[in-house]
Amino acid sequence: MSFDLAAIRAQFPILSQQVNGKPLVYLDNGATTQKPNVVIDAICDYYRHDNANVHRGAHALSDRATAKFEGARESVRRFINAGHREEIIWTKGTTEGINLVAFSWGRDNLRQGDRVLVSTMEHHANIVPWQLLAGQTGCELVPMPVDDRGQIDLAALDDLLDERVKLVSVVHVSNALGTVNPVEAIIEKAHAVGAKVLIDGAQAVAHWPLDVQALDCDFYSFSAHKMYGPTGMGALYGKRELLQAMPPFMGGGEMIETVSFAGTTYNALPYKFEPGTPNIAGAIGMGAAVEFLESFDRKALAEHEADVLNYAVERAHQYEGLRLIGEADHRAGVLSFLLDGGHPADVGMLLDQQGIAVRTGNHCAMPIMQRYGITGTVRASFALYNGRDDVDALFAGLDKVKTFLL
Ligand code: PLP
Repeated sequence: MSFDLAAIRAQFPILSQQVNGKPLVYLDNGATTQKPNVVIDAICDYYRHDNANVHRGAHALSDRATAKFEGARESVRRFINAGHREEIIWTKGTTEGINLVAFSWGRDNLRQGDRVLVSTMEHHANIVPWQLLAGQTGCELVPMPVDDRGQIDLAALDDLLDERVKLVSVVHVSNALGTVNPVEAIIEKAHAVGAKVLIDGAQAVAHWPLDVQALDCDFYSFSAHKMYGPTGMGALYGKRELLQAMPPFMGGGEMIETVSFAGTTYNALPYKFEPGTPNIAGAIGMGAAVEFLESFDRKALAEHEADVLNYAVERAHQYEGLRLIGEADHRAGVLSFLLDGGHPADVGMLLDQQGIAVRTGNHCAMPIMQRYGITGTVRASFALYNGRDDVDALFAGLDKVKTFLL
């Protein structure tokens, strides 16, 4: 495979360090990915040379900051192939994007008797906002069942879909299981009963090219920090006609056109949803992350990532005492497992002593853990800089862990 891992790793300064006296093997990319020099530099350059508030200053720095900030929005638009730049709303991450839809679109459109469907494998970010909304509007949150392999039961979805369902909100790639959900089919089925669809793309955007127009989703929420960009930054895509009809989510500066005590009028999209001084450096960093990803042959990248994950799955199947949690036919990025006789927290700590970073626990997805009758797993999650050597390091690490568990 023509994929120069050494050259890629060299672009991520953090990866060359030792942890606990061992070379770092970073397998916690589902929690957050590391940042390449181009992203770090874009943020530093902005603060060093261009720092000013956007959209309001009558001076050169503000013009430069605004150009970079809006240029990043255009990069994100291109990255997901949205039709219009005003369909890209800056957020602080996937969580805020989902809350924006819940408390703007949801509060305006959902009533007693209406239903929101989510899957059992959702991150809490795609459960709790709907529970809060249900408490306020009387709408009902209904979970779609997931089979033993960790796949949404599409036949059960057919049974659940009727005119009461106003929104289906589903994760594209599960952070707890790695399942890639058939969002195309789900969107088609939901639209057939007149429901809107929100996709939680937190774990998907880094892995393959996304085309929101081809997908025909109504909303798509994602985070910069899971695609090599900064933390506390993200974007919500929404279809323009939906966003135009939605009331503001939060009030403040930037999101208004005129304010008086007689009444206030709101700014045009996307600013209607962006009150206050935005995370300018974050947006610029996210734009740089997009350009970093676009600098690759995305098909080759996806093949490389699939090769590493398939290799990890193969090794896991052969590894005595290891039970995979999530065995979907189509998966990405995540190997979630239990080791006989080892509490996930202990396994994680023993791996950390060997310089191997994984995540342990419920992965902010308690309902899917309950579905499997467990409280948590060990999760190794992969990014473009991981290779088969990292998988080998993980299993060598587990060999050592086992000696402590005996
Ligand atoms: N959805 C999924 C599937 C996630 O994995 C995460 C983060 O782990 C989130 C939502 C929340 O993302 P953020 O914390 O960046 O808002």
